[in-house]
Amino acid sequence: MAEGIITCPKCGHKQGAEIPEAVCQFSYLCFGCKETILSETKCCVFCDYGDRSCHTEKKETEVTIVE
Ligand SMILES: [Zn+2]
Ligand SMILES: [Zn+2]
Repeated sequence: MAEGIITCPKCGHKQGAEIPEAVCQFSYLCFGCKETILSETKCCVFCDYGDRSCHTEKKETEVTIVE
């Protein structure tokens, strides 16, 4: 399971979170301001506010996604 650091766009609080492999995570609860942060642009909160995108790890390890 990959981990990313999400920076809250509202308060700047950084927190580590596990990046789900099977699904895109559209929202997360910020422990700093207690707000639910929603992804606005790309695919998930990691791509929008994280230090890495959710697909970075998958590309590097060449994981085959079965749909
Ligand atoms: Zn926050
Ligand atoms: Zn994503």
